[in-house]
Formats: sequence, structure tokens, C-alpha cells
Amino acid sequence: MKVLGVAYEPRDAGELLRAASSLNAEFHILAAGRAAENAEEVSKYASKAYILKTKSPYSIFKAVESLVKQEGYKLVIGEGYRNLRDALSRVAGSLNMPMATDAYSLEVSGESVVVVRGFLSERARMKVEVPLPAIVLFTQRFTEPAEPLGHGSIVELKPEEGPERVVEVKPKAVGEVNLEEAEIIVGVGRGFRSKEDLKLAFELAELLGGQVGCTRPIAADLKWLSEDRWIGISGKRVSPKLYIAVGISGSPQHMSGVQNARIIVAVNKDKSAPIFKQADYGVVADLYQFLPVLIRKLREKLGR
Ligand SMILES: Cc1cc2nc3c(=O)[nH]c(=O)nc-3n(C[C@H](O)[C@H](O)[C@H](O)COP(=O)(O)OP(=O)(O)OC[C@H]3O[C@@H](n4cnc5c(N)ncnc54)[C@H](O)[C@@H]3O)c2cc1C
Repeated sequence: MKVLGVAYEPRDAGELLRAASSLNAEFHILAAGRAAENAEEVSKYASKAYILKTKSPYSIFKAVESLVKQEGYKLVIGEGYRNLRDALSRVAGSLNMPMATDAYSLEVSGESVVVVRGFLSERARMKVEVPLPAIVLFTQRFTEPAEPLGHGSIVELKPEEGPERVVEVKPKAVGEVNLEEAEIIVGVGRGFRSKEDLKLAFELAELLGGQVGCTRPIAADLKWLSEDRWIGISGKRVSPKLYIAVGISGSPQHMSGVQNARIIVAVNKDKSAPIFKQADYGVVADLYQFLPVLIRKLREKLGR
């Protein structure tokens, strides 16, 4: 069986290889988006890497469509970035291939693929059986990357331009944060009384080498932080090794975005806050008393 992994970030290549390696399949990669800027790195994870230097969903759609037709890939896999959802659902429609999204794992069973996927804002899992050929989109950072295989061949593809034309680009207020890549995130919520007080969270994140993320009210309603820090069902899905949630109640809409965090620590002054049911470690404390002490202790330990 031939499997095509569509990588959008460089790290995806190793993760998609891990998913494909249990299938005893010939595995190739199509690298688009930021993955295409790292052709050498991506090519270590497949016997062949197609490089497509574009983020355009239309161009990715056309490239995948023609590769599936030419090479006969039975399974196309990727991760759930907005542009890939757009591109691969067009492939599904054009080639009449079923598509499963929000997947965590898959296995092939005869002429079908059995996919474990999340639903109800990631609060439940279901198993679905999808006939091959099929498309499966995993949740972002669904697994650890596999070890590289060595160097595969690299084939550069020319992106086919679509009928859409960019008429105007308006920059929105964003910081310089890439929460998807962060290993440590300090999440802030409405427990903070003012924008100025967030400096406590930034200080803690800086000491730990992490980033600051937030709940929806902090970005969307209060506008204390830019929207690229907003975590949750309508924001970003992140998968840090450590998530420290400070002054956050733990709504399902927020927690679905940190489902893949390895360890969750919650700091909340209300011992009945729902977040304590989902946290690995809980600190019942007023953040205004707890954070300064934690920061001071860390500074002493780190000598900074
Ligand atoms: C369609 C839809 C989509 C949504 N999408 C998202 C999303 O993507 N992401 C998201 O985050 N939300 C989302 N929401 C909003 C969500 O339902 C919650 O309202 C939101 O997550 C709550 O944010 P919060 O935890 O910061 O605030 P709150 O729920 O108000 O919690 C504040 C917490 O801080 C604690 N606290 C107060 N003072 C202190 C102190 N001094 N020290 C320590 N703790 C303190 C309180 O005990 C409380 O638990 C969505 C809602 C809808 C309807």
C-alpha cells in the first residue's frame, strides 16, 4: 500500500511517518507551508519528498489530487491545520474519497482504515471505519516524531495557481508567538484583575523558557492579549509538555485546546473550580500571593 503524508510544519513529517510506520506501507511526503522551506529536513522521514512551496489550499489540493491519480496512494494523512482541512476536503470531494478528521490513531483492517477520533469538543472518542482509499487528518501534535530514516529523494513541484486572487491583505494585531511549538505554556484567565498584572505570567514564562497563552475572554473580550495566544475550541490547540493554567476556571471550550498537554498544573483560588478535575497538579491559592513566591523561588534556584 502507498501512503502520502501531507506535512505543513517541519515537525509533521516525523509524526506522520510514525503513524504510517505501523501500516507496513510505502510512505512518501508532500511538504507544503513551512515544511516546504525545510526540504532537507523533511526528506529524512520518507523515501520520497515532494516539495510544494505554497500555503495556498487550492495549490495543495491540485498537487495532492494529481499525485493520488498518478501514484495511486490509498491513504492520504495530514494534521488539522486550517489550510490542510480546506485543501484535503477539496481532494475528498473531487476524488470521492471519504475523510476522517480530529484523528488520534489509525490502523488498516482489510480494505478499510479504522480511525480513533475525538468529538464533543474532544470530551469523547469514537472509532470509525472508513473504506480505502481515504483521507485522515490527525489533531495537531498527535504523537511524538519517529526517528529519521536517512535521506529520501526530493522532487520539487510547481504550485498550480487557483482562480482566487488576493485583493488586499490587512495585518491583524498579532504578537510573535508560536504556541503550537511551545514546550511550556503559562495560560492566563479572568482571575487576573488587569492587563498590567499579566506581567507576572510573562515573568514566570520567561524564567521557564515558555510562552504565555490565554482564555478567550482575555483575547476576544478584554483584548489584553493578541488572538494568536487564545487557546481552545475556537482558538489554538496546543500540546506543551507543561501547561500552567493560572486564574482559569477550566471550561470545556478552553480545555479542549490543551487536551494534548502532557502535564497540567492549575492555580485557582476556588477549590471547586472545574479545572482541578482535569489538572495533574492543583494549587488552591490566590495567584497574587502564589506567583510572586514561585517566581522568587525560581529566581533563587536558577540564580537569575
Ligand atoms: C462557542 C464558544 C466558543 C468558545 N471558545 C473558547 C475558546 O476557544 N477558548 C476559551 O478559553 N474559551 C472559549 N469560550 C468561553 C468559555 O466558555 C469560558 O467562558 C472561558 O474559557 C472562561 O475563561 P476564564 O477561565 O478565563 O474565566 P472564568 O470562567 O471567569 O474563570 C476565572 C477563574 O479565575 C479564578 N480566580 C479569580 N481570581 C483569582 C485569583 N486571584 N487567584 C486565582 N484564581 C482566581 C476563579 O476562581 C475562576 O475559576 C467559548 C465559548 C463559547 C460559547
